[in-house]
Amino acid sequence: MRTAAERRELLKAVYEEARGCTRCPLHQTRTTVVFGAGNADADLMFIGEAPGANEDRMGLPFVGQAGKLLDKLLVEIGLERNDVFICNTLKCRPPDNRDPHPNEIEACNDYLRRQVDLIEPTVICTLGNFSTKLLRADSTGISRVHGREEVRIIGPRAVRLYPLYHPAAALYTPSMLEALRADFHRIPKLLALGPPAQPETFEPVPELEDALPEPEGSPSDGDLEPAAQLGLF
Ligand code: URA
Repeated sequence: MRTAAERRELLKAVYEEARGCTRCPLHQTRTTVVFGAGNADADLMFIGEAPGANEDRMGLPFVGQAGKLLDKLLVEIGLERNDVFICNTLKCRPPDNRDPHPNEIEACNDYLRRQVDLIEPTVICTLGNFSTKLLRADSTGISRVHGREEVRIIGPRAVRLYPLYHPAAALYTPSMLEALRADFHRIPKLLALGPPAQPETFEPVPELEDALPEPEGSPSDGDLEPAAQLGLF
């Protein structure tokens, strides 16, 4: 189990990598990589779509009108930004706020997965269609799945995935705002459930051979590459 400080440092290292990213053409038009912000040790994570003009300028997610609505809804359930981690499917702004392209989502997916793996949230709220379809690995639209929590394996862990309408969409459609608010107010109950049962992890069981002395001439641990010793391959 990592400490909060360790998570933060590891996340900073991913950010350092992402801030110079050239994996997709969006690096040519962005001003800033919007990596995400909040508490690296959060139980609750929000994943939106992509930075807009304000986010691109300021380097922070959800700083426009949609962000203000998100802040308001957080306060309504007794939370603030520092309690959660907020990021996007894409870390760079698509020109003219167009929809993310599949190649951009694919190029950015590794950063998102690493964020989820390091933060180890209990609940992930996907905001809108893009993050919902990506994390559910399914093309069902948000209007059919919003407010329905499900346990999903993301990377090595099980999380409570909870799709919500995107706050930007809710800004202009009162019925969506009503649904978003009702769904949002169920978040504390989901958090209170705690992490779902985790998949069994692969713990290498010591083999009989491991207990036996090595045959002469075979490499000892000290001769192996450090990465191999850490099981990184
Ligand atoms: N701002 C963000 O950071 N993400 C969105 O999806 C919309 C607005």
